[in-house]
Amino acid sequence: MKVHVDMNLCQSHGECVIVAPDVFTLGEDDILVWSEEVPDDRRAAMEAAVDACPMMAIRLEN
Ligand code: SF4
Repeated sequence: MKVHVDMNLCQSHGECVIVAPDVFTLGEDDILVWSEEVPDDRRAAMEAAVDACPMMAIRLEN
């Protein structure tokens, strides 16, 4: 699946990093970096990241 993050909404809260640190990290200056293509067997973790984001910035696409 593809993982999209709207960087106009993301405020680097880092909740997604806590849920799935292998996919999301806070890089230099706390700017979020992430894997845009994630295996389908990680769907539960990605849905948890979507739910955890207080800005509703994460969107999944099959
Ligand atoms: S939880 Fe949402 S706002 Fe926070 S870093 Fe992740 S995408 Fe950005």
